[in-house]
This record gives sequence, C-alpha cells and structure tokens, in this order.
Amino acid sequence: MNAELGPNLTSDPLGWALPPWTREEAQAIYDQPFNDLLFRAQTIHRENFDPNRVQLSRLLSIKTGGCPEDCGYCSQSAHHETGLKASKLMEVQRVIAEARKARDAGATRYCMGAAWRSPKERDMEAVVAMVEGVKALGMETCMTLGMLDLEQAARLKQAGLDYYNHNIDTSERYYGEVISTRSFADRLDTLENVRQSGIKVCCGGIVGMGEEPVDRIDMLVTLANLPEPPDSVPINMLIPIAGTPLADASPIEPIEFVRTIALARIMMPKSYIRLSAGRTAMSDEMQALCFFAGANSVFVGDTLLTAGNPGQDEDALLFRRLGIERMELEAE
Ligand code: SF4
Repeated sequence: MNAELGPNLTSDPLGWALPPWTREEAQAIYDQPFNDLLFRAQTIHRENFDPNRVQLSRLLSIKTGGCPEDCGYCSQSAHHETGLKASKLMEVQRVIAEARKARDAGATRYCMGAAWRSPKERDMEAVVAMVEGVKALGMETCMTLGMLDLEQAARLKQAGLDYYNHNIDTSERYYGEVISTRSFADRLDTLENVRQSGIKVCCGGIVGMGEEPVDRIDMLVTLANLPEPPDSVPINMLIPIAGTPLADASPIEPIEFVRTIALARIMMPKSYIRLSAGRTAMSDEMQALCFFAGANSVFVGDTLLTAGNPGQDEDALLFRRLGIERMELEAE
C-alpha cells in the first residue's frame, strides 16, 4: 500500500496503484510536487520500457476534409469554414508508395486517417487493400476511419490491421462542449468493437481545448479503466485553427501538459504514450520533459493530417541531443 495515495488504493508489490482508478486517486497523483510526479513516472517507465527509445509513427491523410462530424477542433469538419479543400479517398497504390517512403525514413508504424463518420461499404475494399499492402512492407498498420461496427472491425483485422485509432477526445463531462454529432458512448462502442475483433486499440485525446484539469484527469481515468488500457495513447495539444469553434481556446500551460503525460504513464504503465499533434508549439525542453515523464512515441514527418509537425531533421537533431534512439519494430 502506498501511504501517499490514501487508504483505499490497491497497489502492486512495488506500491504502485492498480486499476480501477478513481478520480480522487488520479488527482492525488496529478497534484503531487512536480519532481515527485516525474520521478515516479520515470521509475514506472523504466520498469516497462527502454527509457532511451522512442517509437516513430507516420500519419497519412487518405481522405481529407468534408467530414459530417462537428468536432470543434478539427479543420476537416464540413461544419466549419476553415478553407480546407476536401479530397476523395486516395488510390491504394499511392498510399503504399507513401508508406514505403516512410519506412525507408525510419517509421515502423504507418497510420492512415480518413475524415469519415464511419467507412461506407463501397470504401471497405480499398481500405482493406491499403492495410494488406502496407503490412506487406513489414510495417505495423494503424487506421482511423471513424466509427466501426463489429463486422467492419473483423474485416480490418482479417486484412492484418494492427491498431485502430479512435480517440475519446476529452472527459465525458466536457465532451458535449466539443462535439455534438456523436456521443461519448458511441466512441466507447467503437472501442469495444475494435477490442473484440482483436485489433489493438489506440485511443487518447486532446488537451488545451479550454477544459479544466479535472477533465484531463477524468479522460485518463476512462482510458485506464477500459477493459484493457489502450496499447497506444496519443496525447494531442490543441493547435487552434481559424474558423473552428476552438480557434480561441486558451492554451494549456506547459507544466500542466507534462503532468498529463506523467499521469498517463503512471496509470497505463505498459501503453505507448504518444506525443501527437502540437509538437510544433513545444520547445525542445518541453518535449524532453515529456520523454522524461514517460512519452515514448511520436509522429514523424512534416505534416499530421492537415496540421504541421516538426520535420525529420528537426526530430533527428533533438533525439541526438537527448541520446534517444528509434525503437525497432522487433523490440515492441
Ligand atoms: S476529428 Fe475526425 S470525425 Fe471529427 S470532424 Fe475531424 S475528421 Fe471528422
């Protein structure tokens, strides 16, 4: 029992807390003195991962814009006037050629995203071919296509899909401030369909959308208390986009962001915690603190769907300065 955490908390033999988590337990950790929080997150990180290796993923938008959902942060929603030009689903061979380039540049996981509410039957053949083609390059595959039913998830699993990304975005309490066209429960249903099909779950959220710290904590509690915690947990820092309802959201304070990463690491010790959108607005020092707090995955490449991302050279330089190496696929 870890006395700092209160009498009701269950713990493993090392004294670390175990799920199911309550908000109070998570909040107590989040509010610890920063050095204690980071020490604890780094200790747990070292028990589960090589602390000097980071997994690199590449993300490609295979169908951009014109999305019927109204996510308040997203440039691709047809509800917002962002000036983004919508495009059709990319051709399969083009996607595979892009994946090959990413692999040759060091990425081990290839993520493909389509701005859909959910895939239509007529699109399934193409997305299945994309999964098979990218898998044949020796990469891990990940897709994010919106809501999935059980049958669609089973087809993607059969094609060899390793991961499916579907974020809960924020806490259940704050969710309605951000999205109205699908519910928090819809999101959990898709996650359950993905899990039941045997595909690994990639699920995280976005911070800096005007939420309170308690929303960040509740979001992580929801993730950590899923039947199995997600294998990958992307934590995005909002990039405000003109024309979206969240264009003027107040930015999250960097130390709060690092606390969020540390809490994710502590509550989901075996998950890949991914620094996702928003790295262009982070200093090298802030990213270094995130890696110390337990982040061990990033998106590489100079674009993330429609947003900017540090380029390959910038990341290579940062990793060299920090002594960080890329995680090989076999090591995962
Ligand atoms: S986040 Fe995804 S589902 Fe929401 S509007 Fe953007 S593309 Fe559509």
